[in-house]
Amino acid sequence: MLQGMDGSFICPDCVELASRVLRDRNMSMRGRKGANPIDLNNVPKPQEIKEFLDQYVIGQEEAKRFLSVAVYNHYKRLASKEQNALQGDAADMADVEIEKSNIILVGRTGTGKTLLAKTIAKMLKVPFTIVDATVLTQAGYVGEDVESLLTRLLQECNYDLAQAERGIVFIDEIDKIARKGDNPSITRDVSGEGVQQALLKLLEGSVVNVPPQGGRKHPEQEFIHVNTENILFICGGAFDGIEQQIAQRMNTQVVGFEAAQSTHKVDKSNLLKYIAPQDLKSFGLIPEIVGRLPILTHLDPLDRQALRNILTEPKNALVKQYVRLLEMDGVRLTFADDALDYIVDKAMEYKLGARGLRGLCETIMMDVMYAVPSSAEKTFEVTRAFAEQQIGKADMLKLQNAL
Ligand code: ADP
Repeated sequence: MLQGMDGSFICPDCVELASRVLRDRNMSMRGRKGANPIDLNNVPKPQEIKEFLDQYVIGQEEAKRFLSVAVYNHYKRLASKEQNALQGDAADMADVEIEKSNIILVGRTGTGKTLLAKTIAKMLKVPFTIVDATVLTQAGYVGEDVESLLTRLLQECNYDLAQAERGIVFIDEIDKIARKGDNPSITRDVSGEGVQQALLKLLEGSVVNVPPQGGRKHPEQEFIHVNTENILFICGGAFDGIEQQIAQRMNTQVVGFEAAQSTHKVDKSNLLKYIAPQDLKSFGLIPEIVGRLPILTHLDPLDRQALRNILTEPKNALVKQYVRLLEMDGVRLTFADDALDYIVDKAMEYKLGARGLRGLCETIMMDVMYAVPSSAEKTFEVTRAFAEQQIGKADMLKLQNAL
């Protein structure tokens, strides 16, 4: 109980209520004022974004270009809206409204989808968050409500609503909420179509009630009202088996007169590059969701050469990291070329992809990192024989399971 100067009292419940009202008002005031205007001269151009991505991500040219353009257009769209707002209603009537272009990246696991998203986040001037679609379920079931995706974005910018409302959300594993089976009504598909319907609202742009702490929504909880109109969504997924759908579609397309002409051009080892929106529908995404992800691009599978480059070329390549680690002990570490080839061979052999490179390197380097700091040696070369010996000692099954 609080007593005022005039002798009146206010109960603890009312104190709590008043403080919440003030907090909410504060938040919505920040929502109006908080965000700095976007100055297009100060944001990176698509080529600059792509060049930055090149420093960390090997290959994936198309995905990089599409992402760079999508992010730049996102800035442009925000800038254009702000200009319109400044010029008032008259400008609104005359001006073209730039539509949001959410983007979807399709590529096998371990080909760099998350890496692309994380790298682009490093250079962004708007809040960015990565969320996983696998935890989402339809409202009322065990799991998280779709709106909780936005909680992460809010947390990313310290609950500054205006900032969050122009941020970028990367939704990973979007394929995991695909409808299972052709007939949606046979079983209750709590993590499939229901979630897609809820997600649709976010993608389209509407005001949604977001639980400030995430997780499940409770009726008694206070929500933050987030307008998703200017939030850019980037989705990523492996869509395992979608190649069959692509092949099927292409087969039916090339039957007949043009068949002989077009089939010889098809790159069967990388069918993903022919992916089209209808393949996503066949896979189990509802047409409305596909329609709201107008930019569709793919990531290429990583071949031997790409894996080899990943070991040594990116700015924070694995090899560079180990060299740096030992440098701190005053030891010069080198890797023989054939040792690197061997690591790549093993990653290919065990179908570990790029994800496996790290595990393999750790296995090879563990004894070195253990022994070298206490030894008098000032140099160490990882030879092929040494790499073979270390991998031979390790339990490959354990290594595979750990990845
Ligand atoms: P995805 O999200 O496609 O499943 P990730 O982006 O998480 O795959 O990749 C896993 C790891 O593999 C990354 O942390 C990175 O070290 C490496 N990697 C994958 N693809 C590439 C690439 N194209 N260039 C550089 N490193 C890569």
